[in-house]
Amino acid sequence: MQIIKERGKNLIKKNPRLNINLKKIKQNAQYIKDLCQQSRVEVVGIIKGCCAIPEVAEALVQGGIKYLGDSRVKNLQRIKVFGIKTKTMLIRTPMLSEVKEVIRWVDISLNSEIKVIKALSEAALLSKSIHPIILMVDLGDLREGLMPAQVLETVEKVLQCSGVKLVGIGANFACISGVLPTPVKMQELLNIKKEIEDNFSLKLEIVSGGNTSVLKLLEDKVLPPGINQLRLGVGILLGQDDARNRNIQGTYQDTFTISAEIIEIKKKPSLPQGEIGRDAFGEIPILEDLGIRKRAILALGKQDVQIKSLIPTIVGVKIIGASSDHLVLDVTEVKEKLEVGDELLFKINYPALLSASTSEYVFKYFY
Ligand SMILES: *Cc1c(COP(=O)(O)O)cnc(C)c1O
Repeated sequence: MQIIKERGKNLIKKNPRLNINLKKIKQNAQYIKDLCQQSRVEVVGIIKGCCAIPEVAEALVQGGIKYLGDSRVKNLQRIKVFGIKTKTMLIRTPMLSEVKEVIRWVDISLNSEIKVIKALSEAALLSKSIHPIILMVDLGDLREGLMPAQVLETVEKVLQCSGVKLVGIGANFACISGVLPTPVKMQELLNIKKEIEDNFSLKLEIVSGGNTSVLKLLEDKVLPPGINQLRLGVGILLGQDDARNRNIQGTYQDTFTISAEIIEIKKKPSLPQGEIGRDAFGEIPILEDLGIRKRAILALGKQDVQIKSLIPTIVGVKIIGASSDHLVLDVTEVKEKLEVGDELLFKINYPALLSASTSEYVFKYFY
């Protein structure tokens, strides 16, 4: 039985496989772009979650997105070389060792270190250009950004760098500490912007409010006016807001799925036979005695994908565990007849998308 085919999808059989629905990704992009446009917020489509697969980047552009961002210069270079004409944003503060590449491939970058900004400025001047930057402020998530008290003194130094242009400020949330954005935090960012403008008699065009976790404020119409840019990745790619563990209304979640093939199926005891040491990854497995169970092995493992964020689509499938190249399932409760050679389909969350996109062993299939 070929489960994929039964569902009417004409997918070619090459496993394991990341199935990429470009039409739904485009529709997600369009929907979210329209939503943001109503609040005068520009969307930067963040594509690091899928390693900036050019076809996916293209789908975002077709959905009306005019800025594409990624943490890695290499990814931004890739989409430009592919021929995608949008502006590119580097969303991780550059490494000192890559400033030349940043000037070459990146149209605007997020920054939080004056040493790097000086180096960017020098590299830009050498190539007779001016590089626009956004200064990141840390509003409590404690990943990147200047502490608010340091902003003015840093801006003063930035303004002495003639190869860069300070075009805005930004913040990020819910990435390392799970700190959620609130209208109060957004107002804090706007206050810092005003302080910079008043102190240095300049205008900042961009206030980049954050990632997908900020979308909820916009949907609830409590995003303070003046926040005019959001950097949205998982919200577009998977229609999910991970910080709140919710799906974004009006978007698709089955934009990316994973298929893998059954290579063994047998009835086996549920309790291991013998003395228990550690598994291949240093863990001691805890298993329950459920008697004899039907187990299937998929040719899919930790080398391919983050197993914890796979969601089986067939009722009754339970994930028992995985090693580098084997995923073991309990399929006793599955109603359909399963055989060696069958494909099983999984929905995925962000960590699975990231890992499967990165793995060269996972075939990428577009439809
Ligand atoms: C990853 C990232 C984003 C996008 O985050 P999502 O949760 O995928 O929307 C935005 N900004 C920065 C700085 C990031 O690192």
